[in-house]
Amino acid sequence: MVNQEDQFKKVIAHAKEYGYVFQSSEIYDGLSAVYDYGQNGVELKNNIRNYWWKAMVQMHDNIVGIDAAIFMHPTTWKASGHVDAFNDPLIDNKDSKKRYRADVLIEDYCAKIEAKIDKEVEKATKRFGDAFDKEQFVTTNQRVVEYQTKIDTTLSRMAKSLEKEDLADVKALIEELEIADPLTGSRNWTDVKQFNLMFGTKLGASAENAMDLYLRPETAQGIFVNFLNVQKTGRMKIPFGIAQTGKAFRNEIVARQFIFRMREFEQMEMQFFIKPGTQGEWYDYWKATRLKWHKSLGLGEANYRFHDHEKLAHYADAACDIEFKFPFGFKELEGIHSRTDFDLSQHEKYSGKKLQYFDPEENTSYVPYVLETSIGLDRMFLAVFSNSLVEEELDNNTTRTVLKLPAVLAPTKAAVLPLVKKDGLPEIAKKIVDDLKWDFNVSYDEKDAVGRRYRRQDAAGTPFCITVDHDTLEDNSVTIRYRDTMEQKRVKIEELRDIIKQEVDVKTWLMKM
Ligand code: ATP
Repeated sequence: MVNQEDQFKKVIAHAKEYGYVFQSSEIYDGLSAVYDYGQNGVELKNNIRNYWWKAMVQMHDNIVGIDAAIFMHPTTWKASGHVDAFNDPLIDNKDSKKRYRADVLIEDYCAKIEAKIDKEVEKATKRFGDAFDKEQFVTTNQRVVEYQTKIDTTLSRMAKSLEKEDLADVKALIEELEIADPLTGSRNWTDVKQFNLMFGTKLGASAENAMDLYLRPETAQGIFVNFLNVQKTGRMKIPFGIAQTGKAFRNEIVARQFIFRMREFEQMEMQFFIKPGTQGEWYDYWKATRLKWHKSLGLGEANYRFHDHEKLAHYADAACDIEFKFPFGFKELEGIHSRTDFDLSQHEKYSGKKLQYFDPEENTSYVPYVLETSIGLDRMFLAVFSNSLVEEELDNNTTRTVLKLPAVLAPTKAAVLPLVKKDGLPEIAKKIVDDLKWDFNVSYDEKDAVGRRYRRQDAAGTPFCITVDHDTLEDNSVTIRYRDTMEQKRVKIEELRDIIKQEVDVKTWLMKM
């Protein structure tokens, strides 16, 4: 068994080696928490975005998409609350000079206690075997109950202090819990301060009349300010949604964990406009619908869980995360937020324009409530990629590295391999590539022995290898090899398109929802 840290290092190294993710400006030693996607990474990213877009926009009659600009009028961010409240509490260690998010230090402390609970549960499962009742155990075992109480009181105190902006108490909590710098063990902390995460920039050529702008920290506001444009021009009736994917920028205090927390990243967000009072049912609907979308990809049901927010953001009346089991533990992958009428009302106030919906059935106008689903494309990429990377023991005592990406998301769907570089086999293989490339991303590979080519394609995540051999010259058939099972089948060249389509089609996968 490799430990979590080693596994994560493998993920990062593999992402680079196979052209998925590179550090930004690497030749200049990189830029902290900024990454570039390589030749395979861009395909995987496009496929994830497309899988989301199809499920959210194309499959819902009442959801449409937009593509708003990254720059927005600066008043947008006053109205949305980002200028005043988009802060993270930071704390510095005076000895190590390292900077941390105070809330994350406390959350990590609780995660350690949670790991202890998991250990107790594991031990008890072994001890009691089939008779084990987990629910009963966690509510009655004294040690576990104490651990859980500690977590609950800690998190709720933190949430209250953050809510009240009582940063002195957040520091007091860190001191009482004896939380030390994870790198050095030092407990010599500064006070906790608030830090605004927005990046500022300027618009305009001359210094005196330049306008201060922000790079958007979320895509959502581009949707809110276009609410009426879309509603009117699309003649949308409530309930309806507007979806958008695009870049967002946050000057994160601590940016580690690879593409999990970046300073420039991409979001896939959908704002669903509803009648006030119906937010409870839509909240449940979107929680269930989004979880089904995740599960359709087959990354393992046990790798997801909901986490209700302790501290609600300034705009929300209910909020939860879908957490995924990353190589470093369960962490937020997607947020589902009931945003009330906060955003539209604020934009009404700041713009002086009415942002209301006329309900023809009730013959009244109102500011709609909003349910938001918001997922980070890069985080989704990391979830898919890290979960798919496996080291497999084979029967002949060797191992192989396989990137078992869901076929629908794989960058290259099939590699076509002539068994040898002569006898007309390359020509047939290239013809197959030319035929299939109208429908799928396919590649041609003739270098090295075929076994090594299979391994290379396994590691790159290609679901199918198609081998052209001397029999092909006689009977027009080829060998198709399946990445995950390594099963090989003899099929006719004309059957290839249908076989591949069945496995990689978005429909096949989304139908599992
Ligand atoms: P976190 O608590 O991890 O900072 P958040 O609660 O601030 O995240 P939201 O504002 O709800 O995140 O953003 C929605 C989604 O955008 C998140 O669920 C996550 O997938 C993604 N996201 C947010 N910040 C980043 C980032 N710095 N890098 C990559 N993805 C991000």
